[in-house]
Order: sequence, then C-alpha cells, then structure tokens
Amino acid sequence: MHRFKYKKGGLHCEGVGLERIAQKVGTPFYCYSLESVREHYRRLRDAFKGIDCQICYSVKSNSNLTLMRQLVRMGAGLDIVSGGELYKGLKVGASPETIVYSSVGKTEAEIRAASSAGILMFNVESEEELEAINRVACHLGKVQPVALRVNPDVKASTHHYITTGTKENKFGISMDDAFRMFVESYRYPFLKFIGVHTHIGSQITEARPFVQTIRKISEFVTRLRRAGMFLEYFNIGGGLGIVYSKEKPQTAHAFAAAVRPLLQKMKLKVILEPGRFISGNSGILVTEVLYWKEARHKTFCIVDAGMNDLARPSIYGAHHEILPVRQRGSSGPAATHVDVVGPICESGDFLAKDRKLVRMRSGEFLAVMSCGAYGFTMASNYNSRPRIPEVVVRGQRFWVARRRETPEDLIRGEEILDV
Ligand SMILES: *Cc1c(COP(=O)(O)O)cnc(C)c1O
Repeated sequence: MHRFKYKKGGLHCEGVGLERIAQKVGTPFYCYSLESVREHYRRLRDAFKGIDCQICYSVKSNSNLTLMRQLVRMGAGLDIVSGGELYKGLKVGASPETIVYSSVGKTEAEIRAASSAGILMFNVESEEELEAINRVACHLGKVQPVALRVNPDVKASTHHYITTGTKENKFGISMDDAFRMFVESYRYPFLKFIGVHTHIGSQITEARPFVQTIRKISEFVTRLRRAGMFLEYFNIGGGLGIVYSKEKPQTAHAFAAAVRPLLQKMKLKVILEPGRFISGNSGILVTEVLYWKEARHKTFCIVDAGMNDLARPSIYGAHHEILPVRQRGSSGPAATHVDVVGPICESGDFLAKDRKLVRMRSGEFLAVMSCGAYGFTMASNYNSRPRIPEVVVRGQRFWVARRRETPEDLIRGEEILDV
C-alpha cells in the first residue's frame, strides 16, 4: 500500500505532483509520504491489539529525522544499531526506555552512551560483548538489562545477504550456547537478563519462518523456566516483506493472526523491530533522464541518479519498479531490454535492468519505486557526488526535510596537506 498515484497523467505523492517538487528542488531526490509511514505503523500496531507489544522501528531502514519523529509521536520505540542512531533517536525525542540496541560489534563508547541514556535493553550477540557491557555497567554503577540474540537456525527464503537466522551466519548465539549463558547469568553481577531476541532475515513474505522461530523460542523459554530462569520479553525482530514487484507478502493482520496463539502461550511481553515494512513503500526516488542511448542489443536510459544514491540494485540485485512521472498516451511502442543506469564509473551502476520502457526524452523524470527503506540510508558520496535531498509530503504540502549537499559538504572536515 502506498500513496504514489497518477492524477491527470502525472505521478503524485499524496496530493503533491512530483513534477512540481522536481521543479522546486531539482533532481534527483527522495520523496516520502508521511501518511504511508503512519498507515504502515498503524496497521502493525492494530494487528497486535490485545498483545502486550512494543513496536521498535528499525532506524537503519530510514533514519530521516522527520519520519522518525512522526513514528515516535505515534508511540513507536526504536531499534538502533549504532551510537549514531542513538544520537538521532534521542534528538527526535524518543524515550530511552523504548529503545533496543542490536549489533554484533558495539564499541565500548557506544555501550557507555546507550547505557547512560537508560535504554530498555541491549540485544547481545556474544559472550565477550556480555563482559564488555557488564564492565561498563559496573563503571556506571548500575544494573543493565540485556537480551540474548539467539540464532534459531531457521531458513527464511530471502536474499543470502539479508538472511541472518541460520547457523553459518555471523549474527546471534546458538541455542545451546545461549542456554548456558542464561543459566550462568550470575557471572555478570551488573547485568539483568530480561529477554530473548531473534531476527531471522529481511524481506520475508510468509509467516512460516516466523512461526517456526517462535515455536523454537517457546520451547527454549520453557526449558529456561525449568532451570529457574524467568524472562520478561521476547523480541521477534523485523524482516516483514513488502511488495517490490510481484511479491504477495503476508499482511500485518495475517502475520499477527499466525503468531498470536503462540505468543499468548508464551506469556512474555513482545517486541517487534519492523524497518522495511514501515518505510519501504513510503518512499521513492525521482531522477531526471539525461540521455537515451541505443546500442546493438540494448538500450540505455541514462539518468542523473546512480548507485551512490540507491545502492540496492547494485549490491543486492534488488528490483525496483520504474515509472515515468508523466504518463504518455500513444507515443509508440515501448522499448524492451532497457537498462536504467546512472553516471557512475562502474558497470555495476544500474537502477534497473532489461525493462520495458517508453522512449524517454532528455529532461523527463522517472520514479524509482519502493525505496523508502535502505535507500537514502545507504547513500554515499562516491564519485564526489553530493547526497541528494529528502522531501517529505503530507497531504497537499511538501517540505525539504534534508537539503541537498553542496560541494562544501563534500570537503568538510578535510585538510589540504602540502606535506
Ligand atoms: C535490520 C534489522 C531489522 C529491520 O529489518 P527489516 O527487514 O527492515 O524489517 C530489525 N532488527 C534487526 C536486529 C536488524 O538488524
């Protein structure tokens, strides 16, 4: 579900024409529909009504401050993965006791900052990390709540770079090791073990892997209870899939219906960490066509956005629909085998491959759909390209929520050393 629709032949975000935004802010730019963000959050929240459940929005999917603020105001907590995300979370007014912190490689400085801020818990991924957090908590003179990230060894059929719940993976702790660590929790006097965490992957379109995971964790929690270890939280992680092209992902409602009976039996407070589900279909990238180049077997549509602006096609082979911002009537047959490519000096620099596309003219705009998640947050300055603006739309109005970077931004912090 998203709010990008054609009206009078022009693609709109909610009530605002994208051509109007392009004329005002230039291209390329990201454009987010706040109403979509709100709706996706609301759907998940409503689907879990009746279950004691905290939704912690996964900041790494889209850390635009305006978008984060909107979610925090609606009651969302945050799932963070770095000290930078902690900083941004506190900036938008998230209350620390709704923040959970995951990452295999938290530094001591990051642990200190998050613990001092009073976050709800760390999701811990190794024994040495437990020792590090215990040490920091000792220095701070406090008892720090933690959860262990358990690897349930469940296969979620998704891209191998974004599956995280199998044995071969760097994430999490095996069930056996985690069991021992829970039972030996007395070894960490400054930690309180309050939960078990899982996150089995991303862009998961069916409930089955989640159900398998919850079954395994359910048994695990029962074993722990028998050993005298009583937990308070079960964190299911994120990973709910969305529509990029022809996927038929479970709805929030179907997901909740599938997991509800299992969760109710566990009698633990539930945490969800959705990222893509909330932000993914809420944003698009608008780019201008520079050149149309017909080679022997291929046609290239060269645009002003590149892999530095949107990395997903290049690094994950991700599919994003490409739509002309101005719909045209009968302007001849669409070209086939069109690659939409950026200006970056890399053959891997493409936004789409082998697509059917009407003959585009220089100066016309294309919309790259469904890039609200892992779009801008993965952007870089590669090829010394300033990062592009993020525009936020609500109803009939739009705002530049993050301005386009300037050449000065490119050299900020750098010295020219004549040495
Ligand atoms: C990335 C991540 C998420 C969010 O994943 P989505 O697929 O965007 O929902 C949630 N939890 C953890 C621990 C993550 O690393």
